[in-house]
Amino acid sequence: MSQSTLNPRTTSFEFSGVIGALSISIGLPLVCVVLNQLIRPDYYIKGFFSNFDFAQLWNNIKPLNWYLTNCEMWTYYLAWFFGLAVLDVTLPGRNMFGVELRDKTKLPYKINGIAISATMALVVAARWQLTGGQMPELQYLYDHTVDLCIITIIFSFLLSVACYASSFVPLLKKNGSGTRERILALGGNSGNPIYDWFIGRELNPRLGPLDIKMFCELRPGMLLWLLINLSCLHHQYLKTGKINDALLLVNLLQGFYIFDGVLNEEGVLTMMDITTDGFGFMLAFGDLTLVPFTYSLQARYLSVSPIELGRVYFTAILGVMCVGYYIFHSANKQKSEFRQGKLPNLRSIDTDRGTKLLCDGWWAKSQHINYFGDWLISWSWCLTTGFQTPLTYYYVLYFATLLIHRQIRDELKCKHKYGASWVKYETAVPYKIIPYVY
Ligand code: NDP
Repeated sequence: MSQSTLNPRTTSFEFSGVIGALSISIGLPLVCVVLNQLIRPDYYIKGFFSNFDFAQLWNNIKPLNWYLTNCEMWTYYLAWFFGLAVLDVTLPGRNMFGVELRDKTKLPYKINGIAISATMALVVAARWQLTGGQMPELQYLYDHTVDLCIITIIFSFLLSVACYASSFVPLLKKNGSGTRERILALGGNSGNPIYDWFIGRELNPRLGPLDIKMFCELRPGMLLWLLINLSCLHHQYLKTGKINDALLLVNLLQGFYIFDGVLNEEGVLTMMDITTDGFGFMLAFGDLTLVPFTYSLQARYLSVSPIELGRVYFTAILGVMCVGYYIFHSANKQKSEFRQGKLPNLRSIDTDRGTKLLCDGWWAKSQHINYFGDWLISWSWCLTTGFQTPLTYYYVLYFATLLIHRQIRDELKCKHKYGASWVKYETAVPYKIIPYVY
């Protein structure tokens, strides 16, 4: 296989090319810091619009040099990141293979999220016992959230620069195509350093047995999100001796979502992020900063502005989560079982590739009915914060944008892959995500 066949040049650009890549790389970290600044305890967030104080936004933010040279914070964060990496490589798990790559090989992955989560739960329980419930680590996390957020932005930048640079280093062993060339992402090989660094040049950068993309997607960000939520619960308990039902609910709902992700971890192996996208600043920042520091905004808000939901509202929110989860879970399960040949009675459309496109059951309602369920789940999290500030609703907006962008990318991919069969499928299932709406 020639080099150009293995790694063809990227000729179409997403996010409006370099300008978009630069704008997102500067804009999204800023949004992330601003949201975390606005939600912090000493900022009055209840009347968001009437009390908006622009000068306060930069209060507490130190000069860049302070972050770059802060040994204490770097030690904590690097211990967290590399400690988890060591656990990821050493703890036992199920060995699986990813999808077939362009050189006809498949990469091995270890699915050990349950072992890692159990280890983390044990460590938290032991620290609770040893510190008499004081848990100084959780208090540190709660008190330094904004600073840690900035540290993770710098780390994401450095990690993506390192991955971009290493994508030019030839492999030690020959790959399946008989060359030492690394497999690059189809979308990240434009030749423009800024664009490729942002999108991710190499498809699956690895450090020894550690798959950096899969690791970042599942471990340091997701688990930090869980710990930040827990730190809010802990903070409220230490401060008031009780926990409000709203904060408890958001912890339970998001904890369940993360746990469900761990239980169904192997599903990530066939997701677009792993099969198609390179690992660049976009994914590094998304996994390591955006997930932990913006998905936890509801819990952080509720630890500052406690809300008592009461039984009716509590049950209603739980209902939204259950409906969302039911759609999300049963739709994903239905597609997965159908593709394994377990549901032969469901209506489908034959494709030239020999596979079938399901257009029955959940998959008759919309082309991505699973996204709709996921979006409903995001509503349940935001609703726990009541209606006092739009800030905590950032997540439903952000997630809607992410899902629509994903749907558009997937549609392009499927149109190209399935041609006339996809057109037939679109006629049978006209709605994209929300039945009868979009
Ligand atoms: P989907 O699960 O919808 O998978 C899309 C792929 O499935 C297509 O590319 C195509 O792949 C195949 N496909 C599409 N339609 C059909 C059909 N009718 N019948 C059979 N096969 C079909 O999307 P994702 O992989 O993006 O998402 C997986 C889950 O992850 C979703 O539930 C989503 O909500 C969730 N998610 C969560 C995120 C978060 O941050 N919380 C972020 C993104 C996703 P092929 O080429 O193999 O045919």
